[in-house]
Amino acid sequence: MWKIEDAIELYGIERWGSGYFSVNRNGNLIVKPTKNDAQVIDLKNVVDSLVSKKINYPILFRFPQILESQIKTLNSAFSNSILEYKYNNTYQGIFPMKVNQRKEVIEEIVKSGKKYNMGLEVGTKAELLAALSFDLSNDALLICNGFKDDEYLHLALNAIKLSNKVVIIIDEFSETKRLLEIAKQLNVKPIIGIRAKLYSRGSGKWAESGGESSKFGLSTTEILECVKIISEYNMIDQLQVLHFHIGSQITEIRRIQKAVKEAARVYAKIKLKHINIKYFNIGGGLGIDYDGSKTSSDASANYTIQEYANNVVYSLKEVCDEENVTHPIILSESGRAISAYHSVLVINIKGNKNGDLNKRVELRGNEPHIITELYDAFKEINIKNYVEFYHDALLHREELLSLFNLGEIELEEKSMGEILFWQLCEKAIGFAKETENKSDDFDDLNKLLSKKYIGNFSVFQSVPDFWAIKQLFPVVPVSRNNEKPTEYGTIVDITCDSDGEIDKFVDLKDVKEILELHELNNGSYYLAVLLIGAYQDTIGDYHNLFGSANEAHIIVDESGGWHIKQIVNGDRNCDVLGYVKYNNSYLLSAFESEVNQAVKECGLSKSDAEDIMNNYKNVMNRYTYLDI
Ligand SMILES: *Cc1c(COP(=O)(O)O)cnc(C)c1O
Repeated sequence: MWKIEDAIELYGIERWGSGYFSVNRNGNLIVKPTKNDAQVIDLKNVVDSLVSKKINYPILFRFPQILESQIKTLNSAFSNSILEYKYNNTYQGIFPMKVNQRKEVIEEIVKSGKKYNMGLEVGTKAELLAALSFDLSNDALLICNGFKDDEYLHLALNAIKLSNKVVIIIDEFSETKRLLEIAKQLNVKPIIGIRAKLYSRGSGKWAESGGESSKFGLSTTEILECVKIISEYNMIDQLQVLHFHIGSQITEIRRIQKAVKEAARVYAKIKLKHINIKYFNIGGGLGIDYDGSKTSSDASANYTIQEYANNVVYSLKEVCDEENVTHPIILSESGRAISAYHSVLVINIKGNKNGDLNKRVELRGNEPHIITELYDAFKEINIKNYVEFYHDALLHREELLSLFNLGEIELEEKSMGEILFWQLCEKAIGFAKETENKSDDFDDLNKLLSKKYIGNFSVFQSVPDFWAIKQLFPVVPVSRNNEKPTEYGTIVDITCDSDGEIDKFVDLKDVKEILELHELNNGSYYLAVLLIGAYQDTIGDYHNLFGSANEAHIIVDESGGWHIKQIVNGDRNCDVLGYVKYNNSYLLSAFESEVNQAVKECGLSKSDAEDIMNNYKNVMNRYTYLDI
């Protein structure tokens, strides 16, 4: 008997869900944005309610309370560690805007982060312009990273005149003099930071962001030179931040520990030169356990947030105490850890395909030899002979194709042979499972026999990191988790690109290439792609002109009920066309003149012309995805 617990185990929901996701008694995926068992959202109910409001899928769900909860978790983790290790200073979080610049997301982060003096980090002029629209708490920092031209520096320095606590990080040595010159001209005193290039590197996919060959950061020689130049400008009291960042999604805790120790030593040595560094900024890198394995594999992290905080605080304190310097304020720029859990993409499945498994073959008696052989094999295959019969069938299939190529059999016969071949394979797979045959043959066959579930979405727009770097994201049916999933499948999107397919799935021990899914019935079938709140929103692209998805922001209230806080419409066809420079009125007038020409020259009636024109205008204003 299939139980709810089996589904939870199969998809690993409670291993990667961090307390936010589970399945209820009805088999529906649930979300607990506050981790409180009395405040539960049944995702299937939300999905149905949006269907009744005629909001089309795919829909991106945001749960702003998850952002709040993650901010709380991170801050509590650091305050626990600070208490436990008797660290003599505080922690302040900084949200790096490149991880998710969406206004509603940053608004929530700023609001929930206020009591923790949470700040923002920007890497470009555009992000800085946006960040300056938010009202941070007085002690919160606005950190400027990235390549900086004079315009960027000017804008950042002007912000100081409005009493913002702006930190300008020297990421690159050549910025030093320009920064100091412009600050002198404008007569402002910025808080200056230095990004150190560490010998330590991260681990996982982003290991290249750290280490000696990293894109950013100052070498030891450059740091010394930089300190000298800052002193010459009489600004040495402004040098208050030591920063490093060894990459995102660091999968191994000991890498973090090593980097902190190395940077702590740099901090201490600078401090001993009587330079008043107050802040120690450990950058990003705090990983998310996407596959729930708690290992150092790419999709995971072998530590919790609390263990991360413990390692940072302990290692930093140890070095500071050894060097006899005061403990700095700890800053971290954890973006992924704050935002990954908060959004879930729900896609509707349009159907699935796997050729010929459901057809029946009836022999008439006059079939060519090859067909009767396949037919007999299909009838006689059993648990004892299936390996041999399967291998024979592979040969039969080759023969079928060569007979066809020689013109000796007809299309109908080719079709019969193919159907029999696949049905035989399906039986063989069944026996392979029964006998726990794990040979490569049957593994590959299993993949071949799996179905392609056609999802109404674009991988390129909504889960770009899956396409770009094969980053894994959990996928779970929104409902029917009280039924045993009897099919295997991958999820293809609706772009005309064979790369538009999710064909790698999280697994405790390995990466799965096919996912257990339910047989489609007459009802709708929805899948959720989870943990996509970090990086996916703006890395997504417009391949095939599928635009951003419709959004619904959902919150739970004190009484445990949920409501839709906001619906944000996704892109219409005219919107995405605008991005590639077809403006609306240009398209309408071009099409209109074609219609008019057809009226004049091809006898198109006035009323048909009007219908055609209205149809065009109507589609222009519709959602880019399938209306199913
Ligand atoms: C990208 C980036 C971050 C965010 O890293 P996460 O791993 O998402 O927390 C923080 N700091 C800097 C300098 C970055 O470039």
